[in-house]
Parts: sequence; structure tokens; C-alpha cells
Amino acid sequence: WAKADGKNTFRYYSRELEDSAHQQEKLMSMLQKALPGHELELYYQPIMALETRKIVGFEALLRWHQPELGNIRPDVFIPLAEASGLIMQIGEWVLETACLQAKAWQERYASGLIMNVNFSGRQFHHPNIVQNIVNMVNKVGLDARLLNIELTESVLMDQSSVMIEKMHMLRQAGLDIAIDDFGTGYSSMSYLRQFPINTIKIDRSFIKGLPDDPEGSAIAQAILALAKTLKLSAVAEGVETQAQAEFLRANGCEKIQGYLFSPPVTADDAERLICQQLGRDMT
Ligand code: C2E
Ligand code: MG
Ligand code: MG
Ligand code: MG
Repeated sequence: WAKADGKNTFRYYSRELEDSAHQQEKLMSMLQKALPGHELELYYQPIMALETRKIVGFEALLRWHQPELGNIRPDVFIPLAEASGLIMQIGEWVLETACLQAKAWQERYASGLIMNVNFSGRQFHHPNIVQNIVNMVNKVGLDARLLNIELTESVLMDQSSVMIEKMHMLRQAGLDIAIDDFGTGYSSMSYLRQFPINTIKIDRSFIKGLPDDPEGSAIAQAILALAKTLKLSAVAEGVETQAQAEFLRANGCEKIQGYLFSPPVTADDAERLICQQLGRDMT
């Protein structure tokens, strides 16, 4: 019995694995068509200053509208794009689209709004990445100071001397660098002094329990104190309630991002938010 069970179990799991490998393959070939098929779109989520309640920038977040399957989340397809190398082309499209959008808003509204763009490991580890970013900024004619690069801790973990060099070059070119999902990676502390970063984005897992959860609160307070000491700007991610915003403000957090103010929205809707803030009609 045991053997038979074991066998069945094994077969069951192996078929499931086969299925999921098959699914991945299918998704991968679909992803190859995403860029040429115009299935990708950038959404923009406002980042707001807590003190003034004003939008100070946006984070560009990629959306994939797959014609048969519907919307596929970046958590699902970014790893596939990484694994296949497609991330290089997709990432270049993201960067160009985000830079063009930032440039357009700057020209229309002189708003000084920052554009945050996410880079994943394989993208940032590419030897020409810094030159590619600088070239893109120049090609688009965007003020480099309006572009902010988001990197996760895991991206910075390996090859740290090469990474530091790349970050210095980006900073020299005028860009800002933010550590994304701060606190979820490995060595949150030691590299903060070595790396020329401007901003830490506190992961939403630490924001979730605010203000009631004592452990979450202690961690959020510790990160904010650390940011202050190191003269880094802090952005809280995933802020959904007024109580969370209040707690963050009281503890010296400068900026928030989250559903409380707005989810990621289309370029048009983002522009509507800018106009609302400026008390202007959309041009
Ligand atoms: P991320 O960079 O940490 O982006 C923040 C994520 O939190 C976004 O998920 C956003 O929609 C979500 N979020 C924002 N506010 C709230 C909130 O109040 N509550 C909750 N529950 N969630 C909130 P999204 O858009 O699904 O993106 C997931 C991840 O995919 C991003 O995490 C980023 O790591 C990656 N990603 C997205 N776009 C790109 C891209 O263009 N390039 C690269 N390399 N990665 C990207
Ligand atoms: Mg991000
Ligand atoms: Mg994040
Ligand atoms: Mg993330």
C-alpha cells in the first residue's frame, strides 16, 4: 500500500511539475510577443510628501495585458523575463517610456516631479547599464535629476565593488538611487554606509501592522531613525490607512506611497492627478 501510495503521489507531483514547467514555457513564449504586440503598459503610482500632502513623484510599474490570459502580475512575469534575458529589451522599453513621460510632464507642467524606475538584478548587472541609462536620459532630453533608480537589496548583494562603482557613476550623472523593499533583503545595515544611495523605501510588510503591532512599529521606527542618522530620505511603501500615515509622519517619515492616496494608475489618470494638484485643466 505504502509503495503504491508513494508511486501515485510521485506521479501526481511529477505531472503537476510537468504542467507548471509547461505553463512557464507557454508564458515565456507569450512574453516574447508582449513588446512587439504592444501588450505592455506603464502605470504610475504617486509618491507623496507627508508634510505638504503633495505629489512629489511617481513610480513606474509595468503591466502586461495578455490578450488570452488577461492581466498578468509583474511578480509573475518579471522573474520569467529575468530568466529568459527578455528583461533587457523590456527594461529598455520601460526606461524609455518612463523617461519620455517624465519629460512630457516636465514640459507641460514644470512640475519637477521625480520618476522612479525599477531595475532587476540581471538588468543592473549588465556591464553597460550605466552608459545605457545615461544615453537614454540624453536621448530623451530629460533632466537626469528627475530620474530615480530603484534597486532591491538582493541586487546589491553580490559584486558589491562593481555595484558601488556603477552607483557612483549614476550619482555623478545626476540620478538618485533608492533601495527598494528595504528590510527584506540580507544585510540591511553594513552596505548603507558604503553605497551612495539617496533613499530607502521601507517595505510594506513593516507598514502593514502600523500603528498597533508593537514589533512592526518598532522596526518602522528603527528604520526611520537609521534613515535620519544617515541623512537618507525615507519612503514608506504600501500605506493604506490614515492611521499608518499618521504614525509615519509622527516618526519622521517624509514620503508615502500606497492605496491610501492612489493605486498605480494609467498615464492619463496620473496626469489628471497632477492637474488636480496644480488646479489646472489637462492640456
Ligand atoms: P515594487 O517595486 O516594490 O512596487 C511596489 C508594489 O506594491 C507594486 O506592485 C504596487 O502596485 C504595490 N502597492 C503599492 N501600494 C500598495 C498598497 O497600498 N497596498 C498593497 N498591497 N500593494 C501596494 P506591482 O505593480 O504588482 O509590482 C510588483 C513588483 O514587480 C514591483 O515591486 C517590482 O519589484 C516589480 N516591477 C514592477 N514593474 C517593474 C519594472 O518595470 N521593472 C522591473 N525590473 N521590475 C518591476
Ligand atoms: Mg519599486
Ligand atoms: Mg518596493
Ligand atoms: Mg517589490
